[in-house]
Amino acid sequence: MLDSGDIGPGQNRTTTVERGSFSIARCTCGWSGPARRARALARDDAADHATSRHSRSGTSDSSNSSDE
Ligand SMILES: [Zn+2]
Repeated sequence: MLDSGDIGPGQNRTTTVERGSFSIARCTCGWSGPARRARALARDDAADHATSRHSRSGTSDSSNSSDE
């Protein structure tokens, strides 16, 4: 019920929209994935995006960034 824009880690910031027989993953950051024939694949895209783009262990939350 909290809708103040503060999304913590592990929360669902991604959604899947259906276009005809296709499903497309979308994120609150504006990202959208490719059209998939199965919603499971779209959710997989969303999960992969959220992990690579919004994961706490990979982002620059701390000053200790040795990844990129
Ligand atoms: Zn995103």
